Amino acid sequence: MSTSVAEYVAAEREPAREPKTRITGLMVQYYHVCRRELWFMSRDIDIDRETTNIQRGTHVDETSYQGSRKSFQIDGRIQLDVLESGDIMEVKVSSAMEKPARMQLLFYLWYLREVHDIEKDGVLAYPTERRREQVELNTETTAQIEATVEGILDTVGAETPPALEKKSYCDSCLYQDICWM
Ligand code: SF4
Repeated sequence: MSTSVAEYVAAEREPAREPKTRITGLMVQYYHVCRRELWFMSRDIDIDRETTNIQRGTHVDETSYQGSRKSFQIDGRIQLDVLESGDIMEVKVSSAMEKPARMQLLFYLWYLREVHDIEKDGVLAYPTERRREQVELNTETTAQIEATVEGILDTVGAETPPALEKKSYCDSCLYQDICWM
């Protein structure tokens, strides 16, 4: 674990904690989609959350597996759904953004373990595709998530956004007007 990640964990474990950067699951997703997008979001640059994709994702999330999961808000950072089996579930509308979704769920598992000493496995679910994937923390995925946390701290702490670089998802990005005006 790098010094910056260890400092972040230590700050989160303090009873009266308020770390300089509050990392959320959405920030982990953004980091793996576009670091420039993460930087905009970290500066509270507002976006229109009424867009169709977000509404659809929320509806699928809210209406799937309702009877078999319970939701918990942890530390104002993460919203967790826990299945009857005890696994942590993350529901996504499609597997098009598979890596960001997996990293978000891994961050939840890592946060629970490092900050609250709770060991859990995860289930990534795509109800519209009738598909599920088991996700767990091991040596490899722990290294991936710690590199992600370090990368988020670096990105958010920078004075300027990462350089503009055209990506396949720029056309559907909520920040495209800022990037490409
Ligand atoms: S428009 Fe493209 S480069 Fe700009 S924030 Fe969105 S994904 Fe990133």
